[in-house]
Amino acid sequence: MMRAIVLRKDGSEFSARMEQLEIASDDDDNILCEVAYSSLNYKDAMAIANKGPVVRKWPMVPGIDGAGRVIRSASSAAPEGAQVVATGWGLGETRWGCLAEAVSLPDKFCTELPTGLSLRESMGVGTAGLTAMLCILAIEGHGVRPEDGPVLVTGASGGVGGMALMLLKMLGYTAVASTGRVNEASYLQEIGASRVMDRKQLSEPGKPLQKEEWAAVIDSVGSVTLANACASTRYGGIVTACGLAQGMDFPGSVAPFILRGVTLAGIDSVMASPAVRRIAWERIATALDRAALNRITCEIELADVEAAAQDLLAGQVRGRLIVKI
Ligand code: NDP
Repeated sequence: MMRAIVLRKDGSEFSARMEQLEIASDDDDNILCEVAYSSLNYKDAMAIANKGPVVRKWPMVPGIDGAGRVIRSASSAAPEGAQVVATGWGLGETRWGCLAEAVSLPDKFCTELPTGLSLRESMGVGTAGLTAMLCILAIEGHGVRPEDGPVLVTGASGGVGGMALMLLKMLGYTAVASTGRVNEASYLQEIGASRVMDRKQLSEPGKPLQKEEWAAVIDSVGSVTLANACASTRYGGIVTACGLAQGMDFPGSVAPFILRGVTLAGIDSVMASPAVRRIAWERIATALDRAALNRITCEIELADVEAAAQDLLAGQVRGRLIVKI
């Protein structure tokens, strides 16, 4: 038995509450993990508030991120006692997630926690930080070095944006933060931004080619912002697209791609391979700025999750929420 947040739907009746229930396993599971920490992401908040088609199976335990200790294992890849982190893979969407005392998983979902990273820190990082690091790996893989010019980070006050600013700074890049909360400029500068710009400069339709500014972009916003980011990227630069906070559309032109050789790279953390995750988590463990992570994160209890989900959807949360189980 375990304590968990449980989402139930019966016709038009929806409920989200804490319950005591039996741990469920899928056929391919070979790991049972005691969850120490989870986190609350936008996707979790949508599931808990019954907004948007996140949950594909009912009842559902939400929680796309979890970190804890393996307490039962039939796998040498994640033996009993190992400390592991699991994010994405449909957790909290198609299979029970991590806002629970325990989660049953196949071993390929588990990445062993790298040396130097605590379970709690890994959930401060969570899907948002993993996604930011996947963007950085793409930028590095494209050959962009810190001396090549500034990296634009959109949605900077959000989870992905904040983690991107922090990691870029630690890796020596100059990060420019685009935000709707310019009154929070000092916070963004403390965690890693060298400069802060008003997101209005990017969120209104612009010319297909604009002044060349960015060596690279980490965009969690999509829509017009993504189109403008591409149009203002320097010759040969790369734009990593990972989110859709402004919208799912892409009202851009091919001009930056065919006239400036700009690359648009799609980034997905949900189904990223175990090998890529291992590399990303290792890099996160070495590049993490613990003081900045503390500035970005706030800890809540499982019982606070429903209220926090409403705040997150109302845009009242800055940075990342760690859930102590
Ligand atoms: P958050 O809600 O924490 O942050 C999103 C940020 O986007 C906000 O803080 C805000 O930043 C900005 N924003 C919100 N609405 C708008 C708008 N209408 N126009 C422009 N900017 C806006 O979310 P996350 O950081 O966790 O996730 C960001 C995006 O990335 C989401 O779309 C999410 O679904 C996606 N995502 C994708 C992943 C992947 O694997 N590809 C993994 C994780 C997330 P500010 O106030 O600074 O302007």
